[in-house]
Amino acid sequence: MSKDLTPINGMFQMPTLPYDALGTIISKETLSFHHGKHLKAYVDNLNKMLPGSGLENLPLSEVIRKAEGGLFNNAGQVLNHAMYFEQFSNSPKAMSEKMKGLLERDFGSVEAFKKEFEQKGATLFGSGWVWLSADAQGKLVITQQKNAENPVTMGLQPLLTFDVWEHAYYLDYQNRRADYLAALWQIVDWAIIENRL
Ligand code: MN
Repeated sequence: MSKDLTPINGMFQMPTLPYDALGTIISKETLSFHHGKHLKAYVDNLNKMLPGSGLENLPLSEVIRKAEGGLFNNAGQVLNHAMYFEQFSNSPKAMSEKMKGLLERDFGSVEAFKKEFEQKGATLFGSGWVWLSADAQGKLVITQQKNAENPVTMGLQPLLTFDVWEHAYYLDYQNRRADYLAALWQIVDWAIIENRL
């Protein structure tokens, strides 16, 4: 991500939500539950579990690489949601020619990339995340990650993620996960994604 999350006086802070609603794509109601309730619980649980874990005062990506069990799950969900909410905008910046070139190099075309990304999000069974990341050689890869997993545990640099837990879309799209995934492209701010490279 553009900047890692670091604790202040041993406590991780709530990532800010830079909008109230995202047009017709994600409603204010969904965001109030998703950010205000679900993410809030992950942040609170993380801060309760950190003392005595031996992982106090580390950047969040380091906590995720070293933690297990409940601490891993809550730490992972805090980073995953911080990146998810940060990457959207009501006035999103378009993809640069450089980014377009990287997607064409590794997926054939931007459309082929989007199709594979949506397909991997739609076919992830249960709860989790679909990610675009860069590997150590700079090659772009799409991964399906279950539950709270984040590509940093695989040595990848995470760039873009769509949350496919039902809480991310059920109020707006009910069971139509594929429609939710297809709609999200309209609010992805590519300047933020490219800053994570
Ligand atoms: Mn979520």
